[in-house]
Amino acid sequence: MDAECVFCSIISGRLPSARVHESDNFVVIKDINPVAPVHLLVIPKRHVESVLSVSEDFPAGEFFDVVKRVAEQEGLRRGFRLVVNTGIEAQQSVPHMHAHILGGRSFTWPPG
Ligand code: AMP
Ligand code: ZN
Repeated sequence: MDAECVFCSIISGRLPSARVHESDNFVVIKDINPVAPVHLLVIPKRHVESVLSVSEDFPAGEFFDVVKRVAEQEGLRRGFRLVVNTGIEAQQSVPHMHAHILGGRSFTWPPG
C-alpha cells in the first residue's frame, strides 16, 4: 500500500470509484476518462509499480480469470483489447500496474 498512490486509495475506499467486480487480489473499476464504449481497469490490490516489477508470485491465473469474467459480464464476447501500458515510453500515467479492458467498438481502432 502506497499512501500517495491513486489506485491504492481507490482499493482502500478512500477515493470513490465505480467498481464492477472484485476478487481476492483484484478490483475492476470503470476508467474515469473512457476512450472506448467499455473502458475498465483491472487493478491488483497489492501495489506494484509496473509489469517491470511484477514478481513470480503474481496471481496471473486469477488475473486472466477476472478479465474473462468481466468481459463476459460486460457483453464483450466478440472481443476486446487488453492493454498494459508499461513505463515512461508507453506513457503509463498511474504507477500502479493495471490492465485496460477496451471494448464495444465494432470496427475502428487507432493503430498501436
Ligand atoms: P495509464 O495511462 O495506462 O497509466 O492509465 C491510467 C488510467 O487511469 C487512465 O486511463 C485514467 O483515465 C485512469 N484514471 C486515473 N485516475 C482515475 C480514477 N480516480 N478513477 C478511475 N480511473 C482513473
Ligand atoms: Zn498503488
